[in-house]
Amino acid sequence: MKIAIIGAGLSGLTAGRILAKAGHEVVVFEKSKGYGGRMSTRRRDGASAVLMDHGAPYLTGTSPDFRNFIDELLEKGLINRWTDTVSCYTEGQILPEMPGREPREQYIAPDGMNGIGKYLGRWMDFYFSEKVGGITHIGGSRIKKSPWMINSSSINVFEADAVVIATPAIQAYGLVSTAQDELDLRKMITVLDDISYTSTISFMAGYGERNPVEWKAIVCDHPVLAWICNESSKRNFSGDMNIIAHSTDTFAKKMTEEDDPAIARRQIMKALGEVLGSWAARPEWQQSHMWRYHLPRKHLDTPFLESEDDLAPIALIGDYFQGRSMEAAYLSGLRLGTHWAEKFS
Ligand SMILES: Cc1cc2nc3c(=O)[nH]c(=O)nc-3n(C[C@H](O)[C@H](O)[C@H](O)COP(=O)(O)OP(=O)(O)OC[C@H]3O[C@@H](n4cnc5c(N)ncnc54)[C@H](O)[C@@H]3O)c2cc1C
Repeated sequence: MKIAIIGAGLSGLTAGRILAKAGHEVVVFEKSKGYGGRMSTRRRDGASAVLMDHGAPYLTGTSPDFRNFIDELLEKGLINRWTDTVSCYTEGQILPEMPGREPREQYIAPDGMNGIGKYLGRWMDFYFSEKVGGITHIGGSRIKKSPWMINSSSINVFEADAVVIATPAIQAYGLVSTAQDELDLRKMITVLDDISYTSTISFMAGYGERNPVEWKAIVCDHPVLAWICNESSKRNFSGDMNIIAHSTDTFAKKMTEEDDPAIARRQIMKALGEVLGSWAARPEWQQSHMWRYHLPRKHLDTPFLESEDDLAPIALIGDYFQGRSMEAAYLSGLRLGTHWAEKFS
């Protein structure tokens, strides 16, 4: 079958790899320029190139299937053990460990989290910078004639036998809505309508040469900051201090009303000064990224959704199935990929 996957995040790439290995032709449509979705990395070029994981900063998980995936990535040298503890900022001070939190191994990607996406994507073909605007059921069946048409900005006609929508639920809602008149997809739409997301602003900052700090990550009890990550601790420390801060959902939502992103950046720098010390309010360089769909507020109790029509297969996957993490995204892609590889063998 020719399978179109919309979204090159962890769930889409995981399903795609299984289906491609099972002999299907898998083509991925991705609206951004590269692999990984919310597991993404920015490169800041300068005197020394700096990698910043401005989406998910690390991997962790407990289920046997995700542990196997972690072992695979360790073996390929794509991830390293990072830390099993996080610090915490509360009542005006930084505690070296979060009270009551069990130690849990966390893994980072020294060459950037999006390297994991690139590794998974070796089995598929990609259209990057290609936003899918809608999908149309053109009739027929996957056995005689491709039943699906993918509508995107620059490719006029792309026909597929099956479609996997691997985007956040709100974007999936928009896509399924474009096809609902032609097939009975209303059940999917109703389920998707119920899922909303937290937002966060990722603030990336470099401070030039500084003595290394003790902490690797700080969970913050603060109105502006939720989390601070010491990016320099993830890669060979060159002497330059780089950090990423994630804002709280409340702050990010408030900032969506402001036209100028510099207003948010100024408030985040002030907050960093409060938490880390006055040096942190004066970075040498800084950038920010608004994630409107950070984490799903609730999740569904099934690993994926699929239509009942096996002649025009369509399915939904992502982290909003059974969780709100990379582990959930991986397991959703794994379950659908395995199911379809068997069903359409
Ligand atoms: C700042 C931040 C911090 C996080 N921290 C953690 C953490 O510490 N631990 C953890 O486990 N998880 C964390 N997460 C969550 C984790 O990154 C996600 O749960 C996981 O990566 C989701 O994968 P996914 O495949 O479900 O979706 P995504 O990664 O969102 O992939 C969906 C893809 O679909 C693309 N897309 C959407 N619409 C279209 C369209 N119309 N056409 C084409 N392409 C489209 C998007 O561009 C995106 O690449 C964090 C996320 C963020 C943003």
